[in-house]
Amino acid sequence: MINNDADQTKSPLDDSTQFDTDSNHSDALDTGSGLMKRYRDIPHGFRPILICMTGSRKGVRHKIDKKHTIIGRTQLADFPIHESAASRRHARIIYENYDRPEEQPICYIEDLESRNGTELNGREINAIAPLKERDRLMIGHTIFGYFIRDLAELMHDEFLYNNAMRDPLTNIDNRQQMISHLKHFMARAQRRQTQFCFLVVDVDHFKNINDTYGHLIGDEALKHLALLMQGHIRETDFIARWGGEEFAIGVSDSTLYDATLLADRLREKIEGAPLKINDLTLPLTVSIGVTSLQEGDTIDMLFQRADRYLYEAKVSARNKVVAGT
Ligand code: GH3
Ligand code: MG
Ligand code: MG
Repeated sequence: MINNDADQTKSPLDDSTQFDTDSNHSDALDTGSGLMKRYRDIPHGFRPILICMTGSRKGVRHKIDKKHTIIGRTQLADFPIHESAASRRHARIIYENYDRPEEQPICYIEDLESRNGTELNGREINAIAPLKERDRLMIGHTIFGYFIRDLAELMHDEFLYNNAMRDPLTNIDNRQQMISHLKHFMARAQRRQTQFCFLVVDVDHFKNINDTYGHLIGDEALKHLALLMQGHIRETDFIARWGGEEFAIGVSDSTLYDATLLADRLREKIEGAPLKINDLTLPLTVSIGVTSLQEGDTIDMLFQRADRYLYEAKVSARNKVVAGT
């Protein structure tokens, strides 16, 4: 097993869904009991919105309702994002027919000569590019989704978003959301010739836990593991519950070696942090398969390779990391 003391930046644990509550942003949306109250003031018609899909502000959404919406690191931006790879005034959304909400919105994204560029669906934009529903923007390391909603949809959207993209038990992303992130990051890595790695994490002998302590304790173990792993990956990495007692982690801009170190660090962390409920102390271990993106890989190929290494880890020992290309 590999020992790795290299520091990994901790990411703040994401709330399920947050809203743009940054100071002075009166156009921030909200949910829960305040939802109706907030939306009552919005005139009927279409609304373009940006939803932050990764990082510490994941789930934050921003209604676009004026001609120019600035996204950037400065607190004065209309949609401020907290990350060093973004420029202070990084990009701008131009909402051409903002004064005619009854029309389908016509929006463009413009890079404001940012240091690291702005990407639209995995491709860097040169100057101004038109936006269409479900486009993905990448600013710094943060991905935004562009959506068009009307009032009723805005309210329903929140409900759907959580149901469609979140695993209700662990409150981390589900497989569906992981797949949309993978599409983006794989296109980006292939275009930029940068490295991208993928981890599949499977709980060891999980069936025994259910059989011995019951499904409720099994569920608590899954929540515990999701929280632990989410707290120990970098803000630019992304984790999802792939299904059952399996998790997947995407690691961008990382060599296979570094991703393997990360995997072993997670493995060790989990081994050292048993689930504690009342008098019960339940040791947990995981096995992890790690692989790196190869030219021509599809998501299936990437997953199958990681799964094959996971299988090797299982048959050889468990509580183990196996990596390969
Ligand atoms: P291995 O070390 O080979 O991975 O063995 P395992 O027992 O972990 O693997 P196996 O695939 O035999 O069992 C997985 C178990 O995970 C079976 C299934 O009931 C349980 N499981 C899947 N999803 C959930 C869930 O949401 N909650 C609970 N409590 N159990 C779940
Ligand atoms: Mg399994
Ligand atoms: Mg298992």
